[in-house]
Amino acid sequence: MTDKMHTAQGRARESALAPGLYLVATPIGAARDITLRALDILASADVLAAEDTRTLRHLMEIHGIKPGDRPLWAYHDHNGAAVRPRILEALAQGRSVAYCSEAGTPVVADPGYQLARAAIEAGATVTGAPGPSAAILALSLSGLPSDRFLFAGFPPAQAGARARWLDEIGAVEATLILYESPKRIQRLLTELCERWSEGRKAALCRELTKRFEEVRRGTLGTLRDGLADAPVKGEIVLVVGHPVSVAPSQADVDGALVAALGRLRVKEAAAEVAEALGLPRREVYQRALALKREDDG
Ligand code: SAM
Repeated sequence: MTDKMHTAQGRARESALAPGLYLVATPIGAARDITLRALDILASADVLAAEDTRTLRHLMEIHGIKPGDRPLWAYHDHNGAAVRPRILEALAQGRSVAYCSEAGTPVVADPGYQLARAAIEAGATVTGAPGPSAAILALSLSGLPSDRFLFAGFPPAQAGARARWLDEIGAVEATLILYESPKRIQRLLTELCERWSEGRKAALCRELTKRFEEVRRGTLGTLRDGLADAPVKGEIVLVVGHPVSVAPSQADVDGALVAALGRLRVKEAAAEVAEALGLPRREVYQRALALKREDDG
């Protein structure tokens, strides 16, 4: 912890920052959602780099930080290959570089991955100023289990890749975090109801930390139906609960038991089927006995 005074004046350029690449998280809505340390880094880095330089300038202005005569470079998906060497060169010269994406945490569905990798490979120090990310805030607000979660980002647009992606992540035993645009959210929810299950719990979180923040909690089915009545605008995170376990039908249980009884004694057959289908042993044993009796009679 530094004991520096955290005032706008206190953040006047000090250049006391150790050399390295600093991945700095910025607000996803409310401009004051930025840490004091992030402001210190922005005030003292030798070089500033941003996905959108206008957004960073504006944020710094709000917080009373002047870029001064420091370089402020644009670094995004379209110019990354050209600008990366310049940033690596600055790091090699022992300078400190602060990088911000448009909003939230760099690298999370935002540029910064290739830059961080290249800097790590070049032996530079890569560190960060943690802060907001829409994914984590949506998870916190969703009311869904947070002990195991998977950030899946935006669904692929191409049909084949999208179908594979939906099947793959839909089966994962975890709370899922998806990003989607308001234009495509209705289509996504319709697909999820068809491919996953209407009854799966979900939360649609939009415009987080902004004036029209809203969280709709329900199931994939109720959220889809709700959108037909009240479409949404703005930025959206969809959080989806664990897969709904479908209870096996009596025919499934009997089929499995008949097959197992062909190989095993009643007790072992019941144990095997109960384990495979996730059912109580006692119930399956009773049913196995009944089937055996029918067969013997
Ligand atoms: N790096 C950012 C982060 O850490 O959250 C994500 C950037 S990604 C390009 C932008 C997407 O994040 C939006 O389309 C939306 O899905 C989500 N998002 C960003 N800000 C949001 C907010 N305030 N409320 C809800 N979702 C948001």
